[in-house]
Amino acid sequence: FVEGAPGEPVLISFDDASTFFHEMGHALHYLSSNVAYPTLNGGVRDYTEFQSQLLERWLLTDPVIDNYLVHVETGEPIPAELVERIRAASTFNQGFSTTEYLASALVDMYFHTTDPEGIDPDAFERETLERLGMPEEIPMRHRSPHFGHIFSGEGYSAGYYGYMWADVLTSDAAEAFAEAPGGFYDPEVAGRLVEYLFAPRNAIDPAVAYREFRGRDADIGPLMRDRGFPVPGSDEMQDDAMHEDGDMPAPDHGEMHDDAGHAHDSDVMPDGDNE
Ligand SMILES: [Zn+2]
Repeated sequence: FVEGAPGEPVLISFDDASTFFHEMGHALHYLSSNVAYPTLNGGVRDYTEFQSQLLERWLLTDPVIDNYLVHVETGEPIPAELVERIRAASTFNQGFSTTEYLASALVDMYFHTTDPEGIDPDAFERETLERLGMPEEIPMRHRSPHFGHIFSGEGYSAGYYGYMWADVLTSDAAEAFAEAPGGFYDPEVAGRLVEYLFAPRNAIDPAVAYREFRGRDADIGPLMRDRGFPVPGSDEMQDDAMHEDGDMPAPDHGEMHDDAGHAHDSDVMPDGDNE
């Protein structure tokens, strides 16, 4: 953040506040650890940004708004209208950024599930995108020749999808709070969050741990809603098909930080949690 002038209070942007909550999520995940063996204290590639991204969702909850998002001179909380505008802006350009990202994530997976013998990467990329129905107007976020995640090490190898998978878990877990009687401050949901998703670190298979927390597997519906997309198979989807005049459903809640336009945007996921 930008350092304040001498004697002046330090003001931080909304983005910096989000980053602060994000990093606090890594800190809480780490500090909650109750595992016995150091090797089980690490992160799992497609899971390690989930806890931190989830923590960002508390930034726009009422207690935080009323106590911390206050004007430096008047002490007044940020106006509700401005909060609504921040929420509304969260779906901006999601169609583009989700598509360019998915193109790279899927091509990555196809490279790793195809016999490499005699493969022509350029032709392979073009054919794969065509098969996927990739719109001509949108380029891949990372074209194959410079896409370091594909083969530069064993760390990612077909793991670029992990950024969005962490978003799926984040949106789905955030809805567990949004639906709870106490909302984001519901003690029962928070208790399960700590017990299953924070404290065990890597000592429980993340898929099993998530099921313990949520009572089911993560669903993509919440992510679709957060990004302002119709949910496949829902009434919204049928509605949308009927009136093709761009009548999109508004997102229910929360804001999205996809991996474009955020501090964690460098396409670098840490092996551990030291980001
Ligand atoms: Zn992070």
